[in-house]
Amino acid sequence: RKTPVTLLGLGAMGTALARAWLAAGHPLTVWNRTPARAEALAAEGAKVADSAAGAVAASTLVVVCLLDDASVETALDGVGLTGKDLVNLTTTTPAQARARATWAEERGARYLDGGIMAVPPMVGIPEAGGYVFYSGSRELFELHRESLAVPVGTAYVGEDAGFAALHDVALLSAMYGMFAGAAHAFALIRREDIDPVVFAPLLGNWIKAMAGSSIEQTARQLRNGDYTTDVVSDLAMQVAGTPTFLSTAEEQGVSPELIAPYFALMRRRLDVGSGKEDLTGLVDLLVRKD
Ligand code: NDP
Repeated sequence: RKTPVTLLGLGAMGTALARAWLAAGHPLTVWNRTPARAEALAAEGAKVADSAAGAVAASTLVVVCLLDDASVETALDGVGLTGKDLVNLTTTTPAQARARATWAEERGARYLDGGIMAVPPMVGIPEAGGYVFYSGSRELFELHRESLAVPVGTAYVGEDAGFAALHDVALLSAMYGMFAGAAHAFALIRREDIDPVVFAPLLGNWIKAMAGSSIEQTARQLRNGDYTTDVVSDLAMQVAGTPTFLSTAEEQGVSPELIAPYFALMRRRLDVGSGKEDLTGLVDLLVRKD
């Protein structure tokens, strides 16, 4: 018999999760603040609780997928959690996740926090490659691993309840940096007779090629503390090249606002005598010393 699951929150993500558990034959109890959103799922076999407390009472494994940390607070206010295995997939900051873990443990629950690396259409489709970062109680993760792996893959990243949120935000932050670079590149060609659709695979493949090797190199250097580069394009050379990038932006009528801050950081690192290094030292410039 499959593990019964309670799910609080039937937004776009919660509904997708619910369908995956139902499809896999897990007894599922759901609750949503706006009851209408549960109607379709009831027809598909979910039990619909008329309160969060009622839903929590129905299963040991309680999954929460609400808008934000404040909505989790509101939904679970006064709800008994003793003996429950609370898995919170709501996107929060690491500090909110840690505080929520303490809050849950004080109420007698085991706690696992999750950061979802998928969009709803990827849920229930293993080939789509979506997964959830989990952190917090390892015991809880191991115990429910199989049930948790039904909607999307799982990646446990540590006992610190904040680590799932931290991994989630770190990856998404890098994604925005990548989007920023792509936006600048598209802006450069925008006023020319260059088809963006023809340009796109050149850009996409370049980003992929750069990502793999340089990210691993950065990681190795951060680990061993030696940022000296063994390739020709050291920081001094790269800084010397930046005027070409800025002048090209100027020529094309493109604002340098996305790339200029990165160039400024490169310059600061060069100014402390790091010309023979890779770009890895920029990481340390970003980290506040206080
Ligand atoms: P939706 O906006 O579709 O749904 C929000 C859910 O939160 C609804 O069930 C809503 O209930 C509920 N809710 C909001 N405020 C409250 C409150 N004060 N009390 C009780 N319930 C409340 O969001 P998603 O389903 O898309 O996202 C849910 C979580 O999953 C978020 O933390 C999001 O960051 C995360 N996530 C979403 C992804 C996505 O692509 N959608 C991707 C990765 C993570 P009601 O129906 O009554 O409004």
